[in-house]
Amino acid sequence: MKTRTEALRALRRTLSEAGFETAALDARLLLLEALGISATDLITWPDTPLTSEQAETLASFTNRRLAHEPVARIVGEREFWGLPFRLSPETLVPRPDTETLLETALDLLPDHRAPLKIVDFGIGSGCILVALLHELPNATGLGVDLSFGALVTARANACGNRVGNRCHFALSRWADAVSGPFDLIVSNPPYIASGVIPGLDAEVREHDPRLALDGGPDGLEPYRVLLAEAERLLVPGGLLAVEIGYDQAEALSSLAGLHGLEILRIAHDLSGNPRCVAM
Ligand code: GLN
Repeated sequence: MKTRTEALRALRRTLSEAGFETAALDARLLLLEALGISATDLITWPDTPLTSEQAETLASFTNRRLAHEPVARIVGEREFWGLPFRLSPETLVPRPDTETLLETALDLLPDHRAPLKIVDFGIGSGCILVALLHELPNATGLGVDLSFGALVTARANACGNRVGNRCHFALSRWADAVSGPFDLIVSNPPYIASGVIPGLDAEVREHDPRLALDGGPDGLEPYRVLLAEAERLLVPGGLLAVEIGYDQAEALSSLAGLHGLEILRIAHDLSGNPRCVAM
């Protein structure tokens, strides 16, 4: 049987030859999960042979990756804001770009120790709300989703990241079952235009839930709903921060104007695309 180091090298080569740009990182994450060991275990005991059960799991993970299943789906977890998040088929894989929304909201909140009330519409894995509660020690949060499965996963992630005692959850289509007031509304709603979905990268199209991607005919439907509810849900001077698609900044500005909301900031992601609008 191969040793851990040999298995890692072989997997890296297989993925690299199959054209995966992130072969080295993918191989490492898949190996650790298949063997059920930590990075420290791998460094400490690199020459331990795999058990036959570990080898079987690794082979199955390898085949799934070769069929272009995202690594986060295979290992069932993704890191966001330095915290681990479990995933389920009902949750979008957290994207690094979404950290732009976190940074913007935190930057615009004047007092991080205040007892803020926060609501996250379309909570998914819970990554936005959980990371916010992690940074804001006296805040409490409400996570809203139309998917019960997403709420179950978000709750597990809130508890796993030790903010479960400051977090509630509601099954609701947007704000239908929600009353405020809140100091902060955050959302990474589905914002892809329905017609664009068939052309998305297969790793997204086939593995992220459609409910988390499809923003209606022009991708802006969720924003229309959220902006129309903002006045009812926010305290005076409250903040609304949403993630947007790379080409939606102008459309969001017009929508904000229609609802009498002042744009406070349009923040850009690491690729330089507008990624978050705060009002
Ligand atoms: N950013 C996601 C993507 O690129 C889309 C997420 C969303 O619609 N909120 O696929």
